[in-house]
Amino acid sequence: PLLEPEAKPEERSQQEERLRPRRLSEYIGQKDLKEVLDIAIQAAKVRQETLDHLLLYGPPGLGKTTLSLILAEEMGVGCKMTTAPALERPRDIAGLLMGLQPGDVLFIDEIHRLPKVTEEILYAAMEDFRLDVTLGKGSSARTRSLPLKHFTLVGATTRVGALTSPLRDRFGLIQRLRFYELDELLQIVLRTAGILKMPVTDEGATEIARRSRGTPRIANRLLKRVRDYVQVKELGELTEAIAAEALERYNIDPLGLDWTDRRLLTVMIENFNGGPVGLETIAAATGEDAQTIEEVYEPYLLQIGYLNRTPRGRIATAAAWKHLGYTPPDSQLS
Ligand code: ADP
Repeated sequence: PLLEPEAKPEERSQQEERLRPRRLSEYIGQKDLKEVLDIAIQAAKVRQETLDHLLLYGPPGLGKTTLSLILAEEMGVGCKMTTAPALERPRDIAGLLMGLQPGDVLFIDEIHRLPKVTEEILYAAMEDFRLDVTLGKGSSARTRSLPLKHFTLVGATTRVGALTSPLRDRFGLIQRLRFYELDELLQIVLRTAGILKMPVTDEGATEIARRSRGTPRIANRLLKRVRDYVQVKELGELTEAIAAEALERYNIDPLGLDWTDRRLLTVMIENFNGGPVGLETIAAATGEDAQTIEEVYEPYLLQIGYLNRTPRGRIATAAAWKHLGYTPPDSQLS
């Protein structure tokens, strides 16, 4: 689906890489986070040290990978990228750590999914830049400690709560990424349109920004689909009317809700009178994975005020009822 915030395989291509901002100054939005990082970068440069280990958390598609590449660029070092599921065996992480150059950034995506053995190797690596390896087996096994180059670990996760505390405690900086505001998404759409050499009016770009679920990855994806539409129909410039028409074709709701968002809310409303209803119950009723609902779908619905989390369960708000064409019950009207 077009509105899924996770990267599709084709979005890991070279052409896609052109859309990533390279420097902190080009990175749009996330003002507070950028300030924190800017100070950390300057301080590290003055002291001629590596950056502190950094944990970035927040829903997918908000720019965690991009920031990691920017940090490396700003520090003038390399960036090695990997993802926790690729680090299944101790030798996977050992190989990566041994291959790092002084100051390098090591980016580990989905860091909450590291297997325990790998995670434990990271403790000494992060704290003392030391790699503890066990050689041999059984009674002849010995542990050896190898020195590592100083490096910066950047971990990314959608679930900060799922990290063990020993791992979490080893990050000097823990920072959250927020959904983007409309004006920030607009700047992102205009920037991407510029890179793609695509004529677009401010209103056309706004229409795309509005339907992007607060997420740059979705904004870029919608822009590319609309570009296809404009090119095939030989429409020239992308205007508001054309954007709306194209996005309607792709079944994208004016608020950017996708099929799953709408289905979650509809099930809550139709089957549970809007809640409160427990996450597991919603998962069972919709056939969606509870964790995915919690990490990928709920954050945006909470952000736009369509969902509330209460101790007794989730509630679909009056705004959600109305958006989906239902009349909210009296108890929902304040
Ligand atoms: P994450 O790692 O959080 O899933 P990414 O860093 O891969 O997200 O970002 C997804 C896409 O969105 C990138 O390809 C990039 O082009 C774009 N993007 C993300 N954040 C920004 C930003 N602040 N400014 C401009 N483009 C951005």
